[in-house]
Amino acid sequence: MLTTPDGTTYTYADALDESGRVARCLSDLGLKAGDRVTVQVEKSPMVVWLYLGCLRGGFVFHPLNMDYQAEELEYFIGNAKPAAIVCDPAKLDIHTRLAAETDCRVLTLAANDAGTLVTAMREMPPDFQTRERKLSDIAVLLYSSGTTGPPKGAKITHANLAANATTLVRAWGFTAADTLLHTLPVYHAHGLFVGLGCVLMSGASMQFLPRFSAAAVCTALPVSTVMMGVPTYYSRLLSEAGFDAALCAHMRLFICGSAPLPETLLQAFHERSGHLILERYGMTETGMNASNPLTGERRPGTVGPALPGVELRVTDEADQPLPAGTVGHLQVRGPNVFAGYWRTGNAARNDFTADGFFRTGDLAAIAADGYVTIAGRSRDLIITGGLNVYPRELENVLDSLPEVVESAVIGVPHDDFGEAVVAVVVASGGRAALRTEELLDTLRPRLAGYKLPKQVVVVDALPRNSMGKVQKNRLREQYAGLFSTPPA
Ligand code: AMP
Repeated sequence: MLTTPDGTTYTYADALDESGRVARCLSDLGLKAGDRVTVQVEKSPMVVWLYLGCLRGGFVFHPLNMDYQAEELEYFIGNAKPAAIVCDPAKLDIHTRLAAETDCRVLTLAANDAGTLVTAMREMPPDFQTRERKLSDIAVLLYSSGTTGPPKGAKITHANLAANATTLVRAWGFTAADTLLHTLPVYHAHGLFVGLGCVLMSGASMQFLPRFSAAAVCTALPVSTVMMGVPTYYSRLLSEAGFDAALCAHMRLFICGSAPLPETLLQAFHERSGHLILERYGMTETGMNASNPLTGERRPGTVGPALPGVELRVTDEADQPLPAGTVGHLQVRGPNVFAGYWRTGNAARNDFTADGFFRTGDLAAIAADGYVTIAGRSRDLIITGGLNVYPRELENVLDSLPEVVESAVIGVPHDDFGEAVVAVVVASGGRAALRTEELLDTLRPRLAGYKLPKQVVVVDALPRNSMGKVQKNRLREQYAGLFSTPPA
């Protein structure tokens, strides 16, 4: 059962019918197995039917954040080359223009279920013979990125989805008696694979919220049993006056990931709610890799041991395993690991080691008893409110502006968002001439809101090492106190 905040409910039988209609509709448009369906819409139950309809029809589901603007969309559509786009009516103009260049169909879907997709579906009978697919076939194309270049599409197979969901259902004890409080976005691995995967694989129910709001979560907690979130959600719940142990009496589990969970937040949440949040670790390319246990020690500051069937190792630069407790490069191998990046050709070879481990790009240490501690990212990825921001992308946009000579984008600690985006720029007309508010106004139509710098700092010169590389670690130290409250 899926329940929305207004009390509307949908059963598994509804899910079967609606996903069947979607699959028929897309098939009738001429889509073939393996064709991509790009989806940029607001979260609603229809997105779940659309996801399932794509899986059943053998189409590759390619979800995008609603925040993406024209330039970003142009890259994604050009790279994914979808056969159909389903977009919010507000995005119809840009998608129609992009579709004309790539020769694909455009359908609309609004949060209130209006749109041409729904109109077309209403004409369709619900029964659809689900297409047989191989486990190695691609089910979802999900873009993620290194800092060195444009975002890359991770090819997630049907086998990946099945393996991860099966493992998580067992690890976290999901049953048909559970109700997940689903408040994460469904264009990201966390809400899509982890959230929906656990529910669908166990026959559980969902309280399905369009987005996170502390007040709405408080209303849904008494009728839920499990919640998944990013650290920001949990810190916001603590700011809600009515949030206490009584409100959580029906809950059996709070799960956290996508960014490091501060130990102070873990303790404060424990004191207020009586629940010790279960922290786990994963990424777009691999699904979930490690998790603190359901029963047994949940060790603060760690993400627990590797999940069953998942191999994790920490190595040096030459891929040689390091002794327990030593920080090094974290690598992963298992049925959860993706099939490589989309259209990257030979450039992708270095993503995997010779013996088939994926290089996560994270630094970590594994204790003798298997508990994993994530030390940080070896690349300069910024995670703000659980969403990834790649500095290079912003720097490219900033550097293209006439008023900017050069820029360095860094993440600094932020009490609410985990990290805040800060742009350090050298102004072409001198420090005094640059109006930072005007600069932000220029960036706003070009970038998704969460990528916009929370602060622009104007400097005379960027610190560089002898090789000419910008020393971002020095900038991070210098601006570390911009947004966070120093410990008392
Ligand atoms: P994404 O592909 O958007 O899911 O981002 C994956 C990245 O998020 C990982 O490579 C980690 O750097 C980070 N991450 C996810 N979960 C955790 C966690 N529990 N602690 C620290 N970092 C995390």
